[in-house]
Amino acid sequence: MASSSTSGWDRVWAGAHLATLAAAAEGYGVVENGAVAVRDGRIAWIGPAGEARSLAAGQCVPVEEVGGLWLTPGLIDCHTHLVHAGNRVAEFERRLNGASYEEIARAGGGIRSTVAATRAAGTTELVQGAAARARRLSAEGVTTLEVKSGYGLDLPTERRMLEAARLLETRVPVSIRTTFLGLHALPEERRHDRAGFVAEVCGPWLETLAAAGLVDAVDAFCENIAFTPAETGRLLGAARALGIPAHVHAGQLSDLGAAELAAQYGALSADHLEFLSEAGAAARAAAGTVAVLLPCAYYTLRQAVPPPVRLLRRAGVPLAVATDCNPGTSPCVSLLLALNMACTLFGLTPLEAVTGATRHAARALGLAHDRGTLEIGKRADFALWQVERPAELCYGLGANPCVGVVRAGKGIAAIQQSP
Ligand SMILES: [Zn+2]
Repeated sequence: MASSSTSGWDRVWAGAHLATLAAAAEGYGVVENGAVAVRDGRIAWIGPAGEARSLAAGQCVPVEEVGGLWLTPGLIDCHTHLVHAGNRVAEFERRLNGASYEEIARAGGGIRSTVAATRAAGTTELVQGAAARARRLSAEGVTTLEVKSGYGLDLPTERRMLEAARLLETRVPVSIRTTFLGLHALPEERRHDRAGFVAEVCGPWLETLAAAGLVDAVDAFCENIAFTPAETGRLLGAARALGIPAHVHAGQLSDLGAAELAAQYGALSADHLEFLSEAGAAARAAAGTVAVLLPCAYYTLRQAVPPPVRLLRRAGVPLAVATDCNPGTSPCVSLLLALNMACTLFGLTPLEAVTGATRHAARALGLAHDRGTLEIGKRADFALWQVERPAELCYGLGANPCVGVVRAGKGIAAIQQSP
């Protein structure tokens, strides 16, 4: 980590209570009445507000007074399907009017309807829809977002989705990490050519998209209704050969051993994990693979068995929390709601949940060295909150106590404090 510097600052935020979330710190890593100084978009200094003000005065650096607020690292939503066209509201209503999953599937519902809508959408439409969702997340303090492809299931649409994800950075003040979710579902037209489809995804599709600079990571939906561990392993192996890290949708509906597979390939994260064995937890702990918990999907599907949080804790697996924003199983554009659900439905402590949307979420994206905590040398991404204590980020339902966001050292939202 870079050393602290007391000169050359560009700007200072002073008077807030800091929750640094640094790994070496106790609990939230609280610095009461603290200050953060920024240089070239990175954190240059952290310490008491009084000292920051006098150092700033000596070098004529502007000081933002943010007394009474809490300042945390910018939140990171490390698992989303933000880019897609259409929605599944008609299906939602049909189901609540008594239609079965089979009837909905026969009527062209489910993932097939999102694939059809996404294939029909141009880049502009995809960007507009995703930007609206990204703005809501940004207003809640999110400064980094992971976005998956996977609703194209053909190369041109997968490429368009990833390009749309990259373009979000020009519309919304968030950093984007793109994930090629090549193995999400078998497209209708390849129903009789499963092996051929998998080979194309793991070969020419991955190579083409990676060469275009559109793939920060890959992902596969390893599940009974999707792809087998062998097929998933093939994609992870192909990615590894190209030096591309991986995520895995693992154990959402059954335990196929996908968590072990993720660990075996050194995946950054294995996500969902409602179904996970003791061996799976141990393997991922050893590999340092993050468990990304997605409570809004669990809630939407009204699943009965939550992920084995005690087992994961005991094994020492880092826990992250994300929205899984997608039109089918998690139409959620609130990371704060996901934090609340992680506590209420999964039993995470508020400290675990907040760490799961900052430090551990950064690790799940391979960005632990660069963001996710308030530490010298890290990107100056923060959120400012009108809360009594950090646990309040997990407490409200439909409340948004975020009053300002700073990205790479630049204030990008007006800091509004309620009277
Ligand atoms: Zn997902």
